[in-house]
Amino acid sequence: MDRKKIVVLGTGGTIAGVSVQISDNLGYAAAQLGVHELLQTLPGLAQFPREVLTEQVAQIDSKDMDFSIWQRILRRCIHWLERDDIQGLVLTHGTDTLEETAYFLQSVLSPTKPVVLTCAMRPASSIGADGPQNLMDALAVAAHPGARGVVAVCAGTIHGARDVQKVHTWRLDAFSSGDVGPIGQVVQGTLYLSRNWPKSSVVLPKPDIKKIAALASWPRVEIVVSYAGASGATIDALVSPEVAHRIGAAPVRGLIVAATGNGSMHHELEAALSRAQAAGVRVVRATRCCHGQVAYATEQAIPDSQGLSAVKARVAMILELITQPKDSRLGKMTHNEAED
Ligand code: ASP
Repeated sequence: MDRKKIVVLGTGGTIAGVSVQISDNLGYAAAQLGVHELLQTLPGLAQFPREVLTEQVAQIDSKDMDFSIWQRILRRCIHWLERDDIQGLVLTHGTDTLEETAYFLQSVLSPTKPVVLTCAMRPASSIGADGPQNLMDALAVAAHPGARGVVAVCAGTIHGARDVQKVHTWRLDAFSSGDVGPIGQVVQGTLYLSRNWPKSSVVLPKPDIKKIAALASWPRVEIVVSYAGASGATIDALVSPEVAHRIGAAPVRGLIVAATGNGSMHHELEAALSRAQAAGVRVVRATRCCHGQVAYATEQAIPDSQGLSAVKARVAMILELITQPKDSRLGKMTHNEAED
């Protein structure tokens, strides 16, 4: 047995879900089984050539993911990654916000060891559960020599944290890496790689990481969508200090607009976003299209998200507001995930 260990951190999700009927893949409760239980019943684990440790970090349906749970996950990742006897981490996670957690961890940690998020589209109780295979595949990726960075493994495909996106509501192969394509495939424990492992071009200094892990409240960044008949009313309400005060919310520090097509937006929405910018709110445009990145030939008053989806652009902006309160990096970067 190899000396270095893998740690599996459990956070809940459908992979730990249970339904009353084994034929029911939809009407289940997520986050019911502990990560230790998932490993105990994992066929093939006895043949896995490394010692596997487990730790339950959270037990939630990932639709309810929040900053405090991200901070807990971050702190436990830091703890385990620092240990010399740990080869890599696997994180069991719900599919709904997996891409946000993956991007958050990659942006903050830029780990030189692998951190592999995995999930399932069917509950553990299902007659056709996909979780056990995904978990075995994730362990194989975490144990792979040279593997590094935060990736997601689902349905035999390895996706990079920056590109991975849930694109289907119930299909087992629910994730895509869009135009960029996946990092590779994993077939019965063997990896077939077509791209390099994730590596962030911006590596956060340790004090920034500590700050992110400990901050009591994070900057408020909201997402708005452009659509037919959109007006500026929602933006004006979001930016209004009076409204924030009345509802007991923190003032909005940033807005991401999920724009139409190649970054276009309703003129009324755009006018309201300009007013928001004038009031000191950071604004970035992503696209509501599933594929493709916003591509402008000239600089725009509202910078684009450099290919990040709206939800990931929001994570980037939150981190930026924490680490660079005075200056915006987003919109000036060319690509915040380089390759080896
Ligand atoms: N709602 C579940 C979750 O994200 C969905 C899943 O895991 O597939 O936790």
